[in-house]
Amino acid sequence: MSAAQNSAPPAALLAHLETQPRVRDFLQRAVESGRASHAYLFVGAPGSGKLDAAWALAQALLCEDGGCGACDSCIRVARHTHPDVHHLAPESATGYLISQTRDLLDDVALAPIRARRKVYIIERAEQLRANSANALLKTLEEPPEGVTFILLGTSQDIILPTIVSRCQCVPFRTISPVAAAQAVSRATGLPAARCRMAVAVAGSPQRATEFLKSADRQDARRRMLRAVDALPHADEADILDAAKEIMGAVRAPLAEVKSTQQAVLDQNVDYLSRGALKQLEDRNKRELNARERSGIMEVLASVRSLLRDVLTSLTDASADIVNEDVADIVGRLAQVTTVPGAVGALDAVAAAERSIARNITPQLTFEVMLFDIRKALSCP
Ligand SMILES: [Zn+2]
Repeated sequence: MSAAQNSAPPAALLAHLETQPRVRDFLQRAVESGRASHAYLFVGAPGSGKLDAAWALAQALLCEDGGCGACDSCIRVARHTHPDVHHLAPESATGYLISQTRDLLDDVALAPIRARRKVYIIERAEQLRANSANALLKTLEEPPEGVTFILLGTSQDIILPTIVSRCQCVPFRTISPVAAAQAVSRATGLPAARCRMAVAVAGSPQRATEFLKSADRQDARRRMLRAVDALPHADEADILDAAKEIMGAVRAPLAEVKSTQQAVLDQNVDYLSRGALKQLEDRNKRELNARERSGIMEVLASVRSLLRDVLTSLTDASADIVNEDVADIVGRLAQVTTVPGAVGALDAVAAAERSIARNITPQLTFEVMLFDIRKALSCP
């Protein structure tokens, strides 16, 4: 791969990948030459922007102009409402359900609804294990005309070799939080400190940029941090109320997604077969679940980042903290706890993340986590 191409990228969306210039140039050339592979495997650490790149590639593949970012198709893909772009994540703690891969294969066989192509974004490819992957392998090898698979994984070594060998592998480099924050700052024009916080909460630069544009998502973070701030003086009823309120805030941004989905369904209801409508409804449901889950992980990441700041200021009072906008909360918590207390509280957040992965209800998970953090913080 040569990095010599410095001309303005015609595929504007791939320009989002400014922290991954080699990947961007490589994908751009593939799209422009009209010789995109039928299956990609994006490999890299969490936060390296694989999912953002997958959505950008989907835009570039479906758009008549190679991903202009402005046409109807590009906007639908960006809003995750394009009926020909499918986004899958494992629906059980142990991986993909057999029914998920079966539904996927049924869908692959259908013609695209709006575009000339269909794109399937498949997260955590390492969780495609023998029983759920077998049916998929044949399709990965010879997908129907106009179908592109984009699989995402953290490391090639833990993905079934039979999957790896059928895909074009695209390695993503690990981005430091500082470089990620700089990219967000360039994209949003916001101060570096605020961008560093957004990267800690949202993960990749693209998601951090979206987080900073979403009043709802920032509100969910604020409510969670306020609940943690209040813990030293909270009774049980306060904690139960806080968990409920946080869950409400996490769900708030979904209302807009739901209404957009409904509008797309209403537009298509007259000319889609019952089967295709059912597929669209299922896809919508999955998209909502994925968004809710990512909102939950975001508020959990907010607490983790806050508690790390507490730990930092307990060990070195002059060190920089990530959540400068809530330095007062960090200061108050550092007053009432100790290093073991902050470490114990961080363990409670990790336990909450595991509970969510095991499909424990989010509100209950928040309740348990807040009780555990309260207990840990008051540890001598
Ligand atoms: Zn376009």
